[in-house]
Amino acid sequence: MNSSTVIIDDTTLRDGEQTAGVVFSKREKINIARMLDSIGVQEIECGIPAMGKEEQDSIKGLVDLGLAARLITWNRALVPEIEASLACGVQAVDISLSVSDQMIAHKLRKDRSAVKEQLKVALGFAKQHGLYVSVGGEDASRADLQFLVELMEITRAMGGDRFRFCDTLGIMDPFGMFDKVAFLRKAVPEVEIEVHTHNDLGMATANAIAGIRAGARFVNTTINGLGERAGNAALEEVVMGLKHACGVETAIDTHRFREMSLFVAKASQRPLPVSKPVTGERVFAHESGLHADGVIKDPHNYEGFDPAEVGLTRSIVVGKHSGTGGLIERYRSMGITLSRAMAESLLERTRALSCRRKRDLSNCELMALYLDREALPKAA
Ligand SMILES: [Zn+2]
Repeated sequence: MNSSTVIIDDTTLRDGEQTAGVVFSKREKINIARMLDSIGVQEIECGIPAMGKEEQDSIKGLVDLGLAARLITWNRALVPEIEASLACGVQAVDISLSVSDQMIAHKLRKDRSAVKEQLKVALGFAKQHGLYVSVGGEDASRADLQFLVELMEITRAMGGDRFRFCDTLGIMDPFGMFDKVAFLRKAVPEVEIEVHTHNDLGMATANAIAGIRAGARFVNTTINGLGERAGNAALEEVVMGLKHACGVETAIDTHRFREMSLFVAKASQRPLPVSKPVTGERVFAHESGLHADGVIKDPHNYEGFDPAEVGLTRSIVVGKHSGTGGLIERYRSMGITLSRAMAESLLERTRALSCRRKRDLSNCELMALYLDREALPKAA
């Protein structure tokens, strides 16, 4: 694995917008696409043309931007849907088929051979029209692996460009994910694999990374992990996970992650949890005496990476668990130098106030306590 092997296909504008109750305006879609493009995301899944005119207009608007990123649309593996994509001017399509026996029998009410035939017709049509094609295996994680191999063989024979292994229900664990992707990679090495993971069991990011480690070259992500039900693998988590847990640099500039997270949180009306991995407001906030002291001495003591990498800043929080080191540092950031004795006297009061208010203290509250220090026993 190296940077050139991992390609991000961000689907904030498709699976992300599919989140129940989420709607992006055309302007918001353009902003999100521009941000993704500006940080080096190589591919943007930008919508579902078969949905109708409004969606088609917004996709055409994205095509008109002339981004460096490739735009890809989502389609069922049906000729009219691919035609709708062609009419939008995109050069790449994902053509999706349900591939598990559960969905083939109980959703499509068909059989495996019908699915294979459908793939041949749709893929043949898309390739005749010069499209780049990702063959999407919906519910691939519950499908029979031999059947997936058969579909990938058809994909290879007909010039399809990659196969999307979808953990549609988010029921995989990273070890199972690794094994399945490694098996398929070996069975049909000519067809690249993309992993599409969901977070129903909290493992979307881990499963995406496991898929990449098993040889998938493409990974589907969304900003903030937005997506159906519990969401998809978060762009910012996958990129930082690859970098810091796996030692794999991607081509992505991470410095705008916080800004992008905030923008998408607002546009989706899904507030960003303060402890959201990588981009949450408080993931670099330190309060407890030991941790604050350790970070003040050297941030590497308690931070796995520099907050500046993702556009965040470190903060020392004063609350119930603070120690004198953190208190001195926090006042120093406010332009006030405390002696250790003064800090010790103030600490009791800050802790007591924090307990009463059940939260950490603001600069205003800290200033008020400081100004009231005459009431404190005289520091030596
Ligand atoms: Zn999905």
